[in-house]
Amino acid sequence: MAEQRHEQVDARERRGAPDRERPGRHAVLEEARAWEALVTTARRTVADQLVVGTSGNVSVRVGDTVLVTPSGVPYDRLTPDDVTGVDLTGRQVLGTLRPTSELPMHLAVYRTTDAEAIVHTHAVHATAVSTLVTELPRVHYMAGALGGPVRVAPYAAYGTQELADHMLTALAGRSGCLLRNHGTLTYGTTLDQAYDRTAQLEWMCRLWLTAASVPGLEPSLLTEEQIAEAGERLRGYGQRD
Ligand code: 13P
Ligand code: ZN
Repeated sequence: MAEQRHEQVDARERRGAPDRERPGRHAVLEEARAWEALVTTARRTVADQLVVGTSGNVSVRVGDTVLVTPSGVPYDRLTPDDVTGVDLTGRQVLGTLRPTSELPMHLAVYRTTDAEAIVHTHAVHATAVSTLVTELPRVHYMAGALGGPVRVAPYAAYGTQELADHMLTALAGRSGCLLRNHGTLTYGTTLDQAYDRTAQLEWMCRLWLTAASVPGLEPSLLTEEQIAEAGERLRGYGQRD
């Protein structure tokens, strides 16, 4: 069905009569499925209290198209017709809703890593930590699941290329980072992996704040080597296929 509509649009475009209501093309089946999964993930960020309202954003890559949450639209209102997508230069190729304001961050990650999905949140413990340190103290081995100790990108206004540049520097060798006075960004090869990395990062930040808040005591910290070792072991974690 979606394939068929795609062909109809192609035919219309060949006739030189672009659809004024819906510029760009229609989603193909793979994109429609990915959109459904993206909306589910975006709704989870609200349900799990990683964001409030329309804060944060989610994206997923399908070939050279990046599906993104539209800017400022509550996730429970998103329907299959709202599919929003851009190419890797940021040109809108799907939908009419304006894409997330954080397009520079999302595109910077897709252009430079093997990311297939990205989750950005304003999770409260992670954002609190971003105001206190330049790197999350090494309180737990799960930092290994994000490639090592998690850095904090210096502050820049939301939606700017400057913020995207800071984020990319903080992400070097990692699949997640904190954004000072703003939030989190993690990526993965699937939406579930990107989401899980955000949840783990928020949990580690909560852990450090909890341990560090005990008067008169300081949390013990792991070495970089211990975190790297855990990262190696985590590659074999879980069930074998
Ligand atoms: P959008 O609604 O434009 O995605 O912005 C939310 C946000 O978190 C900006 O940093
Ligand atoms: Zn944000």
